Amino acid sequence: MNISTSQQLFNRAQQSIPGGVNSPVRAFKSVGGTPLFINHAKGAYLYDADDNQYIDYIASWGPMILGHAYEPVVKAIQEQAVYSTSYGAPTELEIKMAELIKSMVPNVDLIRMVSSGTEACMSAIRVARGYTGRNKIIKFEGCYHGHADSFLVKAGSGVATFNIQTVPGVTAGVSTDTLTCAYNDLDAVEKLVEEHKGAIAAIIVEPVAGNMGCIIPQPGFLEGIRKICDADGIVFIFDEVMNGFRLALGGAQEKLGIDADIITYGKVIGAGMPVGAFGGKRHIMEVVSPLGNVYQAGTLSGNPIAMIAGYTLLSILKEQPQLLKELDDKTAYLKDGLDNVLKASGTPYVINHLGSMISIHFSDHPVTDFATAASANNELFKKYFHAMLNRGVYLPPSAFESWFLNNALTKEDLDHTIKATAESLKEIL
Ligand code: PLP
Repeated sequence: MNISTSQQLFNRAQQSIPGGVNSPVRAFKSVGGTPLFINHAKGAYLYDADDNQYIDYIASWGPMILGHAYEPVVKAIQEQAVYSTSYGAPTELEIKMAELIKSMVPNVDLIRMVSSGTEACMSAIRVARGYTGRNKIIKFEGCYHGHADSFLVKAGSGVATFNIQTVPGVTAGVSTDTLTCAYNDLDAVEKLVEEHKGAIAAIIVEPVAGNMGCIIPQPGFLEGIRKICDADGIVFIFDEVMNGFRLALGGAQEKLGIDADIITYGKVIGAGMPVGAFGGKRHIMEVVSPLGNVYQAGTLSGNPIAMIAGYTLLSILKEQPQLLKELDDKTAYLKDGLDNVLKASGTPYVINHLGSMISIHFSDHPVTDFATAASANNELFKKYFHAMLNRGVYLPPSAFESWFLNNALTKEDLDHTIKATAESLKEIL
């Protein structure tokens, strides 16, 4: 495969952008090799600067759930753009967006739009602190909630990929307010809350984690946290930046049947435009400025282009609920096919899967938290990644990321991916 243009662009990018990329995992550092520079994308396919075509299992890390350059979204953006790209004043579109989200997801009485998942999670924590008057939070090892200071403690995603233990620039004061437990370890949560009784503002979790591969909550884990939060007046935050509008129209809350107090969104909510949101129960969200004194703001929050993109996509998902069902069915088909070829290869493996989130771990033990994800054979994953890329399949360039399917994938694409896996395993084992 000729990737000479990507190689040239990567060399050039490193002269003026740190590491040549604007977000670390894109640099392929953990899997090695040259990151592909993308020229355009359509449906389920990415095309790089050398015009190679790839079946895309990243979907821009989630947002492109119905495929790239999805025509209704493109058209809506084009039509809106002629009316200016930003006003810095309220619009009816923002009300329609808030009303639409409220009609789809549980436990959202009030919702504030922001421009990224990081902002959404950072703001949710501030709200929980303002509401409770407490400082400490609990997060789970391997969960990623964006790059705000308080989350960069035992974070997943790129932080795990690059094995960064402590992040320079994050003060010790901030870190001491972030307590951590292993994901799926309810006893540890109970213990930690007992030790810090009355001092914990929030417990934040990815209900279905996607930043250490895909990790499924074990029965009772989230239900148990809900009870602990109720008993100690702790705000329970679901980070649904990955899960929202993907696992179900009502996200993880609906899929798993658990209520959260504050829910954060990103990715699908903006259809590929920079959008995030945090919302929740009225009595908590009422602390947000200008209603309350917890300050939070954004020059581009509720941006009309971003809103019309997200509104169009979410409306289609709501009006055509079979789309998410189709996507889940495609993911189950892929899972079965991968299962067969992995079994036939004889290598130890685990496939974690829920809805349209899925990950392969080359592991001889169940992968239920960060430690078990990290102790899988991630060297083999690197080889698998490159063998698949050479066969035109673009997987996340890290074992610590979920794959995201999009509904533009055809049965032929899925069959190609299964066949490519069989061939890749023959090559690398
Ligand atoms: N929360 C989760 C679960 C995420 O996966 C991410 C990003 O991948 C974020 C928060 C941060 O979102 P953003 O990258 O839009 O700031």
